[in-house]
Amino acid sequence: MNSQHSDKLIDGKAAAAQVIEEVAAEVATLKAEGLEPALAVVLIGDDPASHVYVRNKVLRAEQAGIRSLEFRMQADSSAAAVLEVIAGLNADPGVHGILVQLPLPAHIDERLVLQAIDPAKDVDGFHSDNVGGLSQGRPVLTPCTPAGCMRLLRDRLGDLAGKHAVVVGRSNIVGKPMAALLLAADCSVTVLHSRSREPQTLSRQADILIAAVGRPRMIDAAWIKPGAVVIDVGINRIEEDGRTRLVGDVDFDSVLPLVSAITPVPGGVGPMTIALLMQNTVTAARQQRKQAAARSAEEATCLSTC
Ligand code: NDP
Repeated sequence: MNSQHSDKLIDGKAAAAQVIEEVAAEVATLKAEGLEPALAVVLIGDDPASHVYVRNKVLRAEQAGIRSLEFRMQADSSAAAVLEVIAGLNADPGVHGILVQLPLPAHIDERLVLQAIDPAKDVDGFHSDNVGGLSQGRPVLTPCTPAGCMRLLRDRLGDLAGKHAVVVGRSNIVGKPMAALLLAADCSVTVLHSRSREPQTLSRQADILIAAVGRPRMIDAAWIKPGAVVIDVGINRIEEDGRTRLVGDVDFDSVLPLVSAITPVPGGVGPMTIALLMQNTVTAARQQRKQAAARSAEEATCLSTC
Protein backbone atom coordinates (compact mmCIF):
# COMPACT_ATOMS: atom_id res chain seq x y z
CA MET A 1 0.00 0.00 0.00
CA ASN A 2 1.09 3.56 -0.82
CA SER A 3 2.52 5.03 2.41
CA GLN A 4 0.40 8.19 1.97
CA HIS A 5 -2.63 6.01 2.73
CA SER A 6 -1.21 3.84 5.52
CA ASP A 7 -2.65 6.00 8.32
CA LYS A 8 -6.12 5.30 6.88
CA LEU A 9 -5.91 1.64 7.84
CA ILE A 10 -8.00 0.55 10.83
CA ASP A 11 -5.97 -2.28 12.35
CA GLY A 12 -8.49 -4.82 13.62
CA LYS A 13 -5.78 -7.19 14.82
CA ALA A 14 -4.27 -4.57 17.11
CA ALA A 15 -7.71 -3.44 18.32
CA ALA A 16 -8.69 -7.07 19.04
CA ALA A 17 -5.45 -7.64 20.97
CA GLN A 18 -6.30 -4.57 23.04
CA VAL A 19 -9.81 -5.90 23.78
CA ILE A 20 -8.39 -9.31 24.78
CA GLU A 21 -5.93 -7.56 27.10
CA GLU A 22 -8.78 -5.64 28.73
CA VAL A 23 -10.85 -8.82 29.06
CA ALA A 24 -7.87 -10.69 30.57
CA ALA A 25 -7.51 -7.96 33.21
CA GLU A 26 -11.24 -8.22 34.03
CA VAL A 27 -11.00 -12.01 34.21
CA ALA A 28 -8.06 -11.77 36.62
CA THR A 29 -10.12 -9.50 38.90
CA LEU A 30 -13.12 -11.84 38.74
CA LYS A 31 -10.96 -14.87 39.50
CA ALA A 32 -9.52 -13.09 42.52
CA GLU A 33 -13.13 -12.63 43.66
CA GLY A 34 -13.78 -16.37 43.20
CA LEU A 35 -15.55 -16.24 39.84
CA GLU A 36 -14.02 -18.05 36.85
CA PRO A 37 -15.81 -17.04 33.63
CA ALA A 38 -16.50 -20.07 31.42
CA LEU A 39 -17.58 -20.35 27.80
CA ALA A 40 -19.14 -23.51 26.35
CA VAL A 41 -18.91 -24.01 22.59
CA VAL A 42 -21.19 -26.55 20.92
CA LEU A 43 -20.05 -27.78 17.51
CA ILE A 44 -22.30 -30.09 15.51
CA GLY A 45 -21.02 -31.84 12.40
CA ASP A 46 -17.77 -31.61 10.50
CA ASP A 47 -17.83 -28.36 8.53
CA PRO A 48 -14.09 -27.59 8.21
CA ALA A 49 -14.56 -23.77 8.48
CA SER A 50 -16.60 -24.23 11.67
CA HIS A 51 -13.82 -26.36 13.18
CA VAL A 52 -11.31 -23.56 12.43
CA TYR A 53 -13.61 -20.92 13.98
CA VAL A 54 -14.12 -23.02 17.11
CA ARG A 55 -10.39 -23.66 17.46
CA ASN A 56 -9.73 -19.91 17.23
CA LYS A 57 -12.41 -19.15 19.81
CA VAL A 58 -10.98 -21.68 22.25
CA LEU A 59 -7.46 -20.28 21.74
CA ARG A 60 -8.64 -16.71 22.38
CA ALA A 61 -10.56 -17.82 25.48
CA GLU A 62 -7.37 -19.39 26.84
CA GLN A 63 -5.48 -16.19 26.08
CA ALA A 64 -8.02 -14.17 28.05
CA GLY A 65 -7.99 -16.63 30.97
CA ILE A 66 -11.56 -17.78 30.28
CA ARG A 67 -12.27 -21.47 30.87
CA SER A 68 -13.56 -23.06 27.68
CA LEU A 69 -15.55 -26.25 27.28
CA GLU A 70 -16.08 -27.92 23.92
CA PHE A 71 -19.02 -30.14 23.04
CA ARG A 72 -18.53 -31.85 19.70
CA MET A 73 -21.52 -33.70 18.32
CA GLN A 74 -21.95 -35.90 15.24
CA ALA A 75 -23.48 -34.35 12.11
CA ASP A 76 -26.45 -36.74 12.41
CA SER A 77 -27.20 -35.82 16.04
CA SER A 78 -30.90 -35.28 16.63
CA ALA A 79 -32.30 -31.87 17.51
CA ALA A 80 -33.44 -33.41 20.80
CA ALA A 81 -29.87 -34.42 21.64
CA VAL A 82 -28.63 -30.89 20.92
CA LEU A 83 -31.40 -29.38 23.05
CA GLU A 84 -30.47 -31.76 25.88
CA VAL A 85 -26.85 -30.54 25.81
CA ILE A 86 -28.04 -26.92 25.85
CA ALA A 87 -30.44 -27.61 28.75
CA GLY A 88 -27.53 -29.08 30.72
CA LEU A 89 -25.37 -26.02 30.04
CA ASN A 90 -28.24 -23.66 30.92
CA ALA A 91 -28.58 -25.39 34.29
CA ASP A 92 -24.84 -25.40 35.05
CA PRO A 93 -23.95 -22.37 37.23
CA GLY A 94 -20.27 -22.86 36.31
CA VAL A 95 -21.00 -22.04 32.64
CA HIS A 96 -21.60 -18.37 31.83
CA GLY A 97 -21.63 -18.29 28.04
CA ILE A 98 -23.05 -20.74 25.50
CA LEU A 99 -22.24 -20.55 21.82
CA VAL A 100 -23.63 -22.92 19.22
CA GLN A 101 -21.43 -22.73 16.14
CA LEU A 102 -23.44 -21.99 12.98
CA PRO A 103 -24.35 -23.21 10.42
CA LEU A 104 -26.13 -26.26 11.83
CA PRO A 105 -26.73 -29.44 9.83
CA ALA A 106 -29.81 -28.96 7.60
CA HIS A 107 -32.09 -31.25 9.65
CA ILE A 108 -31.76 -29.10 12.80
CA ASP A 109 -33.94 -26.00 13.15
CA GLU A 110 -31.52 -23.15 13.89
CA ARG A 111 -34.17 -20.92 15.48
CA LEU A 112 -35.28 -23.68 17.86
CA VAL A 113 -31.70 -24.23 19.01
CA LEU A 114 -30.85 -20.55 19.45
CA GLN A 115 -34.09 -19.94 21.36
CA ALA A 116 -33.24 -22.81 23.73
CA ILE A 117 -30.16 -20.98 25.06
CA ASP A 118 -30.73 -19.11 28.33
CA PRO A 119 -30.74 -15.43 27.20
CA ALA A 120 -28.41 -14.60 30.12
CA LYS A 121 -25.83 -17.03 28.63
CA ASP A 122 -26.49 -16.12 24.98
CA VAL A 123 -23.07 -14.62 24.22
CA ASP A 124 -23.84 -14.49 20.49
CA GLY A 125 -26.84 -12.24 21.19
CA PHE A 126 -29.13 -14.18 18.84
CA HIS A 127 -31.93 -15.09 21.30
CA SER A 128 -35.11 -13.08 20.62
CA ASP A 129 -35.01 -11.61 24.17
CA ASN A 130 -31.61 -10.09 23.40
CA VAL A 131 -32.61 -9.06 19.86
CA GLY A 132 -35.72 -7.34 21.27
CA GLY A 133 -33.71 -5.74 24.08
CA LEU A 134 -31.22 -4.34 21.59
CA SER A 135 -33.96 -2.74 19.51
CA GLN A 136 -35.46 -1.23 22.69
CA GLY A 137 -32.05 0.17 23.64
CA ARG A 138 -31.71 -2.03 26.76
CA PRO A 139 -28.23 -3.21 27.84
CA VAL A 140 -28.23 -6.80 26.55
CA LEU A 141 -25.72 -9.27 25.13
CA THR A 142 -25.10 -7.94 21.63
CA PRO A 143 -24.03 -9.85 18.48
CA CYS A 144 -20.23 -9.87 18.40
CA THR A 145 -19.51 -8.73 14.83
CA PRO A 146 -21.55 -5.50 14.96
CA ALA A 147 -20.30 -4.86 18.50
CA GLY A 148 -16.74 -5.22 17.16
CA CYS A 149 -17.51 -2.74 14.36
CA MET A 150 -18.83 -0.24 16.94
CA ARG A 151 -15.64 -0.53 18.95
CA LEU A 152 -13.52 0.13 15.83
CA LEU A 153 -15.67 3.14 14.93
CA ARG A 154 -15.56 4.61 18.43
CA ASP A 155 -11.79 4.08 18.66
CA ARG A 156 -11.39 5.98 15.38
CA LEU A 157 -14.10 8.63 15.56
CA GLY A 158 -15.02 9.00 19.23
CA ASP A 159 -18.61 10.24 19.53
CA LEU A 160 -20.72 9.06 16.58
CA ALA A 161 -23.76 11.26 17.30
CA GLY A 162 -25.29 12.94 14.28
CA LYS A 163 -23.26 11.02 11.71
CA HIS A 164 -25.05 9.45 8.77
CA ALA A 165 -24.34 5.72 8.75
CA VAL A 166 -25.28 3.51 5.82
CA VAL A 167 -25.41 -0.25 6.43
CA VAL A 168 -25.38 -2.38 3.28
CA GLY A 169 -27.03 -5.70 4.22
CA ARG A 170 -29.92 -6.51 6.55
CA SER A 171 -29.14 -9.97 7.93
CA ASN A 172 -30.14 -10.87 11.50
CA ILE A 173 -26.50 -11.57 12.37
CA VAL A 174 -24.86 -8.40 11.04
CA GLY A 175 -26.94 -5.79 9.19
CA LYS A 176 -29.94 -5.41 11.52
CA PRO A 177 -28.07 -5.40 14.86
CA MET A 178 -25.47 -3.09 13.30
CA ALA A 179 -28.22 -0.61 12.40
CA ALA A 180 -29.68 -0.86 15.93
CA LEU A 181 -26.29 -0.17 17.55
CA LEU A 182 -25.62 2.82 15.28
CA LEU A 183 -29.06 4.19 16.09
CA ALA A 184 -28.39 3.72 19.80
CA ALA A 185 -25.20 5.76 19.24
CA ASP A 186 -27.37 8.59 17.84
CA CYS A 187 -26.40 8.13 14.20
CA SER A 188 -28.91 8.69 11.40
CA VAL A 189 -29.11 5.24 9.85
CA THR A 190 -29.95 4.04 6.34
CA VAL A 191 -30.12 0.29 5.65
CA LEU A 192 -29.64 -0.92 2.07
CA HIS A 193 -30.45 -4.39 0.73
CA SER A 194 -30.89 -6.26 -2.51
CA ARG A 195 -34.17 -4.47 -3.30
CA SER A 196 -32.92 -0.94 -2.58
CA ARG A 197 -33.25 1.54 -5.44
CA GLU A 198 -30.25 3.67 -6.39
CA PRO A 199 -28.14 2.27 -3.55
CA GLN A 200 -25.02 4.14 -4.66
CA THR A 201 -26.78 7.52 -4.48
CA LEU A 202 -27.81 6.71 -0.91
CA SER A 203 -24.46 5.30 0.15
CA ARG A 204 -22.63 8.36 -1.21
CA GLN A 205 -24.29 10.30 1.63
CA ALA A 206 -22.64 8.12 4.27
CA ASP A 207 -20.13 9.45 6.78
CA ILE A 208 -19.87 5.83 7.91
CA LEU A 209 -20.36 2.94 5.50
CA ILE A 210 -20.74 -0.62 6.77
CA ALA A 211 -20.53 -3.34 4.10
CA ALA A 212 -22.12 -6.66 5.10
CA VAL A 213 -23.25 -8.17 1.82
CA GLY A 214 -21.24 -11.31 1.09
CA ARG A 215 -20.33 -10.21 -2.47
CA PRO A 216 -16.62 -9.87 -3.25
CA ARG A 217 -15.54 -6.24 -3.88
CA MET A 218 -19.08 -5.08 -4.73
CA ILE A 219 -18.67 -1.69 -3.04
CA ASP A 220 -16.37 0.40 -5.23
CA ALA A 221 -15.55 4.12 -5.47
CA ALA A 222 -19.01 4.90 -6.89
CA TRP A 223 -20.53 4.08 -3.45
CA ILE A 224 -18.23 6.32 -1.40
CA LYS A 225 -18.48 9.90 -0.20
CA PRO A 226 -14.99 11.42 0.03
CA GLY A 227 -13.79 11.28 3.64
CA ALA A 228 -16.12 8.42 4.66
CA VAL A 229 -15.07 5.79 7.21
CA VAL A 230 -15.60 2.31 5.75
CA ILE A 231 -16.01 -0.88 7.75
CA ASP A 232 -15.83 -4.00 5.60
CA VAL A 233 -17.49 -6.96 7.30
CA GLY A 234 -17.39 -9.21 4.23
CA ILE A 235 -15.27 -12.33 4.15
CA ASN A 236 -15.25 -13.87 0.68
CA ARG A 237 -12.98 -16.64 -0.54
CA ILE A 238 -12.09 -16.17 -4.24
CA GLU A 239 -9.73 -17.78 -6.72
CA GLU A 240 -7.41 -15.17 -8.23
CA ASP A 241 -4.05 -15.35 -9.97
CA GLY A 242 -4.04 -19.10 -9.38
CA ARG A 243 -4.50 -18.91 -5.61
CA THR A 244 -7.25 -18.67 -3.03
CA ARG A 245 -7.61 -15.23 -1.49
CA LEU A 246 -9.80 -13.69 1.19
CA VAL A 247 -11.38 -10.43 0.08
CA GLY A 248 -14.02 -8.16 1.54
CA ASP A 249 -17.26 -6.75 0.14
CA VAL A 250 -15.37 -3.53 -0.56
CA ASP A 251 -13.06 -3.02 -3.53
CA PHE A 252 -10.26 -1.89 -1.22
CA ASP A 253 -7.85 -0.50 -3.83
CA SER A 254 -10.50 1.53 -5.63
CA VAL A 255 -11.94 3.19 -2.48
CA LEU A 256 -8.68 3.74 -0.57
CA PRO A 257 -7.83 7.14 -2.13
CA LEU A 258 -11.32 8.43 -1.22
CA VAL A 259 -11.87 7.23 2.35
CA SER A 260 -10.56 8.75 5.56
CA ALA A 261 -10.32 5.30 7.18
CA ILE A 262 -11.01 1.68 6.24
CA THR A 263 -10.73 -1.84 7.65
CA PRO A 264 -8.73 -4.33 5.59
CA VAL A 265 -9.76 -7.94 4.88
CA PRO A 266 -8.30 -9.97 6.45
CA GLY A 267 -7.16 -8.22 9.65
CA GLY A 268 -10.12 -5.86 10.11
CA VAL A 269 -13.48 -6.88 11.55
CA GLY A 270 -12.71 -10.63 11.70
CA PRO A 271 -10.41 -10.59 14.77
CA MET A 272 -12.79 -8.21 16.56
CA THR A 273 -15.67 -10.69 16.38
CA ILE A 274 -13.85 -13.24 18.55
CA ALA A 275 -12.53 -10.57 20.92
CA LEU A 276 -16.06 -9.28 21.53
CA LEU A 277 -17.22 -12.84 22.18
CA MET A 278 -14.76 -12.94 25.08
CA GLN A 279 -16.01 -9.56 26.26
CA ASN A 280 -19.60 -10.85 26.16
CA THR A 281 -18.61 -13.92 28.18
CA VAL A 282 -17.20 -11.74 30.96
CA THR A 283 -20.25 -9.45 30.84
CA ALA A 284 -22.50 -12.52 31.10
CA ALA A 285 -20.51 -13.89 34.06
CA ARG A 286 -20.77 -10.57 35.94
CA GLN A 287 -24.48 -10.26 35.19
CA GLN A 288 -25.21 -13.83 36.35
CA ARG A 289 -23.33 -13.24 39.59
CA LYS A 290 -25.40 -10.09 40.16
CA GLN A 291 -28.65 -11.94 39.45
CA ALA A 292 -27.68 -14.82 41.76
CA ALA A 293 -26.88 -12.34 44.55
CA ALA A 294 -30.24 -10.58 44.03
CA ARG A 295 -32.05 -13.96 44.18
CA SER A 296 -30.26 -14.90 47.45
CA ALA A 297 -31.10 -11.52 48.98
CA GLU A 298 -34.76 -11.95 47.98
CA GLU A 299 -34.85 -15.46 49.48
CA ALA A 300 -33.26 -14.20 52.71
CA THR A 301 -35.83 -11.39 52.96
CA CYS A 302 -38.62 -13.83 52.30
CA LEU A 303 -37.33 -16.25 54.97
CA SER A 304 -37.27 -13.50 57.59
CA THR A 305 -40.61 -11.90 56.68
CA CYS A 306 -42.78 -14.48 54.88
P1 NDP B 1 -26.36 -12.62 4.44
O1 NDP B 1 -26.20 -13.36 3.15
O2 NDP B 1 -27.18 -13.21 5.51
O3 NDP B 1 -26.95 -11.17 4.10
C1 NDP B 1 -26.46 -10.43 3.01
C2 NDP B 1 -27.25 -9.14 2.90
O4 NDP B 1 -26.75 -8.42 1.78
C3 NDP B 1 -28.74 -9.34 2.67
O5 NDP B 1 -29.47 -8.51 3.53
C4 NDP B 1 -28.93 -8.97 1.20
O6 NDP B 1 -30.17 -8.34 0.93
C5 NDP B 1 -27.84 -7.96 1.00
N1 NDP B 1 -27.47 -7.86 -0.40
C6 NDP B 1 -27.21 -8.87 -1.26
N2 NDP B 1 -26.93 -8.38 -2.48
C7 NDP B 1 -27.02 -7.03 -2.38
C8 NDP B 1 -26.86 -5.97 -3.31
N3 NDP B 1 -26.54 -6.19 -4.59
N4 NDP B 1 -27.04 -4.70 -2.87
C9 NDP B 1 -27.35 -4.45 -1.58
N5 NDP B 1 -27.51 -5.44 -0.65
C10 NDP B 1 -27.36 -6.71 -1.07
O7 NDP B 1 -24.88 -12.32 4.92
P2 NDP B 1 -24.31 -11.97 6.41
O8 NDP B 1 -24.89 -10.69 6.89
O9 NDP B 1 -24.36 -13.16 7.27
O10 NDP B 1 -22.77 -11.74 6.03
C11 NDP B 1 -22.37 -10.69 5.19
C12 NDP B 1 -20.88 -10.82 4.95
O11 NDP B 1 -20.20 -10.67 6.18
C13 NDP B 1 -20.43 -12.17 4.41
O12 NDP B 1 -19.31 -11.97 3.56
C14 NDP B 1 -19.97 -12.92 5.65
O13 NDP B 1 -19.00 -13.91 5.38
C15 NDP B 1 -19.38 -11.79 6.45
N6 NDP B 1 -19.35 -12.02 7.90
C16 NDP B 1 -18.20 -11.70 8.54
C17 NDP B 1 -18.11 -11.84 9.90
C18 NDP B 1 -16.85 -11.43 10.56
O14 NDP B 1 -16.58 -11.84 11.66
N7 NDP B 1 -16.05 -10.56 9.94
C19 NDP B 1 -19.21 -12.38 10.70
C20 NDP B 1 -20.42 -12.60 9.94
C21 NDP B 1 -20.47 -12.43 8.58
P3 NDP B 1 -31.60 -9.11 1.05
O15 NDP B 1 -31.91 -9.16 2.51
O16 NDP B 1 -32.51 -8.25 0.28
O17 NDP B 1 -31.40 -10.48 0.46
